[in-house]
Amino acid sequence: MNFHVMTLFPEMFEACMNISIIGRAVENGIISINTVNIRDFSEDKHKRVDDYPYGGGAGMVIQPEPVYKAFGYLVNHIKLSKDDPGSFKKPRVVYVTPQGYVFNQNMAYELSQEEDLIILCGHYEGIDERVLEMIVTDYISIGDYVLTGGELPAMVLIDAIARLVPGVLSNEASAEFESFKDNLLEYPQYTRPEVFMGRRVPEVLLSGHHAKIEEFRRQQSIARTYERRPDLLENAVLTEEEREYLTRLIFQKNFDIYS
Ligand code: SAM
Repeated sequence: MNFHVMTLFPEMFEACMNISIIGRAVENGIISINTVNIRDFSEDKHKRVDDYPYGGGAGMVIQPEPVYKAFGYLVNHIKLSKDDPGSFKKPRVVYVTPQGYVFNQNMAYELSQEEDLIILCGHYEGIDERVLEMIVTDYISIGDYVLTGGELPAMVLIDAIARLVPGVLSNEASAEFESFKDNLLEYPQYTRPEVFMGRRVPEVLLSGHHAKIEEFRRQQSIARTYERRPDLLENAVLTEEEREYLTRLIFQKNFDIYS
């Protein structure tokens, strides 16, 4: 999968995306992260890309022209990089913005199916609306807070999407059975030593009894989700017995509150 990022700060990606799992995936050619500096497409002699907002107000706005030109350059570059340019279809363009749909694991799965993905990073007060209307296909936020720029959100997206691309994680099962699978949080994990400062690893995990371990982990997942993210349970995929387990948990909690 190829990520293409339109940004004013390509050096942020060079500093953060060349290490660990993502860095190895780039090195092995499983994914690529290509950055385009919007500033390179400014016609201004000082390479400025921002101007005052029409109608007044605080801050500056990124002008449409350099963004549009950077986009044109990028699309052409993607087209030329194809073995069969006839098979080229325009890639999706994600604008990372606090005004977008809040990113989640399902969106990460869906976007990981794309061959090329363009991510547009804003800065200052954002980007002129007209160019957004012309090129953006998806508006995505990483949460209900405002950051200074789109670079960290873009890296959050790349990290979450890339690890779902086959071959990026050494053990693909580790992406299959983790938080948000079946709309549940993952169960707690333990490793050696067996006893740490008097706290023992739950006995069942040492039993070697796979069915019991599986049941224990599912129950831990349900309990943890109920405790920390009850909103997820509405769409959780549970068996009849697991629903009964959840009902018992809810009953127990209400009992504890009122007794
Ligand atoms: N004036 C904008 C608003 O109120 O919606 C906020 C602009 S913000 C200071 C500058 C840039 O940071 C945005 O254009 C966007 O690319 C990025 N950004 C900030 N917070 C974000 C978030 N929660 N999710 C995704 N991108 C964000």
